[in-house]
Amino acid sequence: MIIPKTSKLNEKQLQEVEAIASDFECSILEIQGRNRCVYAILGDEGREVMFKRIAGLPFIAKVDMIESPYKLMDRRSGLSDHRVRVGKPEVGKDKPFIIAGPCTIDPANPNFYLESAHALKEAGVDALRGGVWKPRTNPYSFQGDNHSLSIILQAREETGLPIDIEVMDSEQLKLALEAKVDVVQVGTRNAQNYRLLKEIGQLTAGSNTAVLLKRGRHMASPNEFIASAEYIVAEGNPNVMLCPRGTTPPLEGYRNHPDESITPLLKNRTWAPVVVDPSHSVGHADFVPACSLAAIAYGADGLCIESHIQPAKGIGDDPKQAILPQKVKELVGSCTEVWKNRYLP
Ligand code: PEP
Ligand code: MN
Repeated sequence: MIIPKTSKLNEKQLQEVEAIASDFECSILEIQGRNRCVYAILGDEGREVMFKRIAGLPFIAKVDMIESPYKLMDRRSGLSDHRVRVGKPEVGKDKPFIIAGPCTIDPANPNFYLESAHALKEAGVDALRGGVWKPRTNPYSFQGDNHSLSIILQAREETGLPIDIEVMDSEQLKLALEAKVDVVQVGTRNAQNYRLLKEIGQLTAGSNTAVLLKRGRHMASPNEFIASAEYIVAEGNPNVMLCPRGTTPPLEGYRNHPDESITPLLKNRTWAPVVVDPSHSVGHADFVPACSLAAIAYGADGLCIESHIQPAKGIGDDPKQAILPQKVKELVGSCTEVWKNRYLP
């Protein structure tokens, strides 16, 4: 922990800082530069209470932590060589990893889902998505249906593709894990539901189940997002993919504020793959292709796209933002081209 200062602390101030540090068995080293003096706190600097007490002193303007706040997600952690797989393929190796499918599975018309799944398989996607249970802003909107689970399981059976579904609570998580879903999705609304994140980590610890963690709509910094992932990894499941999906307030004209541009920051700080969701970010089918290409150019390892064979007949977000499987096929090609020509730091 470093306390930068433009002028030296006076004797009394220094004693106050020293007293707090010694309560936590840490000491202070004064480092005098030509124009500036900084104080380094030596010892176990990860002590949050000490950090807060020192930062709270009225004469301390700023304290910097040197240790990473996320021990396991950090790019320099022991997990730095960990690779996430969904089914067999490694996410982000050689080509973009594409998850696609309708927003919401319509339990009354399973063929829409099944036909979309087959068309997407033909389009070359790597995994299928589909909402069984839906987090809806309006309590009177369709909330999902347990029966939809059997529809997506049938799609997996018929296509051989891994499946991704969102869970919002313990009960849904258990049903999804009993069904051996390949990817458990945590939606934007639950991105900071720490109890759910922990439970997902506990119940999937040591398994091959991957977790697609969406970025919270109100999450400010990339670090807050990474800290949410740390909850899952700390419980024993490192198979986490980070999914920027737009934040609020929206950029007028888009559904959210597109945030694929945070991809390089996430990749710089962590080893986890980044799978961008362009559909919820821009929220209009017409803008999804450009957002997808931008995400790949920024260094994303993959995309999670809403796609439906007949968007206008879909439920949930599909009429607005789902693109046709044929468009997904084109994107698989154009994203692979961008992938080969992108500039990564
Ligand atoms: C979804 O994937 O359909 C969904 C509800 O996503 P988000 O949590 O990003 O809104
Ligand atoms: Mn959706």
